[in-house]
Amino acid sequence: MNERNTLKINNFGHLEIGGADAIELVKNFGTPLYVMDQAHIENVCLAYSEVLNKEYGYGMVAYASKAFSCKEIYRIINSLGLGADVVSGGELYTAKCTGFPTEKIIFHGNNKSEQELIEAVSSNVGIIVVDSFDEVDLLDKISKNANKIQTILIRVNPGIEAHTHHYIQTAKIDSKFGFSIDSGEAEEIIKYVSTKSNLKLKGLHCHIGSQIFEKQSYVLAVDKMTSFYKHIKETLCIEFDILNMGGGFGIWYSDGDAKTTVSDYADYVKLIATELKRNVEKKGLIKPYLILEPGRSIVGEAGITLYSAGNVKEIKGIKNYLAINGGMFENPRFALYQAKYTVKVANKMMDKGVKTYTIAGKCCESGDIIAEDVLLPSVERGDVIAVFSTGAYNYSMASNYNRNFIPPVVMVKDGVARYVVKPQTYEDLVRNDI
Ligand SMILES: *Cc1c(COP(=O)(O)O)cnc(C)c1O
Repeated sequence: MNERNTLKINNFGHLEIGGADAIELVKNFGTPLYVMDQAHIENVCLAYSEVLNKEYGYGMVAYASKAFSCKEIYRIINSLGLGADVVSGGELYTAKCTGFPTEKIIFHGNNKSEQELIEAVSSNVGIIVVDSFDEVDLLDKISKNANKIQTILIRVNPGIEAHTHHYIQTAKIDSKFGFSIDSGEAEEIIKYVSTKSNLKLKGLHCHIGSQIFEKQSYVLAVDKMTSFYKHIKETLCIEFDILNMGGGFGIWYSDGDAKTTVSDYADYVKLIATELKRNVEKKGLIKPYLILEPGRSIVGEAGITLYSAGNVKEIKGIKNYLAINGGMFENPRFALYQAKYTVKVANKMMDKGVKTYTIAGKCCESGDIIAEDVLLPSVERGDVIAVFSTGAYNYSMASNYNRNFIPPVVMVKDGVARYVVKPQTYEDLVRNDI
């Protein structure tokens, strides 16, 4: 595990999260349980804002809330002064329920519905990021009807794609997101938007990937984006005053990943900020307002999922399956893309690993696995199994598959735990059934 002040092994040999003993949490809240370490979320957010202010002094960190969306996270994010990025009417609604300042909301999506756009405009969302010619027409019409000039960015594709430890530079036009700079499409839509009376185009947005460790890809992306800003200034006499560089900073999941700290995360922001400053000066651009949209790195490592160990099935000479009372309904990331996780026995943190287990869920799918071949102490029914770095894209991707309950979420700070998403009931499962 990637230990920190708020994630360690206590004197009982138990896992301790945010000052709370994981075994006590399980006694009080049951399993499966999503646990979130609030102090860690706050530390990451504050480090981001601080470094952005110090190195650039003109911008905003907007939490990409698709990573983990519920009312309390918008409250926490807002209390720390960050903005938020939303990708659906549902996320917008949730943020608004908490009084989140809508001028600090950025609305994304490659296929927003007319209704979602109407809601975004009437909510006075600060920025809408457009991603198609159709959407330009539709949004202009909606803004006109609402008697508004809507600030927009255009999502572009800078031809740099980064994944974990690699990046590739392509002139790739085949992406469901954004307009390619290299193909000339991006310039076309910029010209097109300029003809629209109720849209105010203030800049461009790119998001080059997720779970990125290769920092060089951001250096390339900043260079590419600012060169394009210069090109647009020279050819169309348009000077953009916002640049949104997206998110995608990599976090620690398992042994293959670097053990990231809060300051490692902040280094991404520092690098992007300093590179932007350098490029802007070199290329003679006005200094754009810099927006960054990290999601995974704000909540990912803050989250730990706790389960009860169930059946162990030993297939002699092949595999030991350890079944837990969760699965793909609350963490579909292995089933989706063979995501790797670190697993520990939370009540036996000091015990040596003696057996290799494949951690299986309880869903009716053979692909319903959480982790493969993990070395653990001998596991007995009722042991508490902890899976780390589950704060991002777990709860937000959860479903009621097999009519399992989506587990509750507990936020822990200074040893005090509270529900931020309460447990579901059978009635919840049939609420909308006719
Ligand atoms: C998903 C997404 C992000 C956040 O990505 P992370 O990898 O979670 O940091 C930011 N911006 C956009 C547009 C996204 O789609």
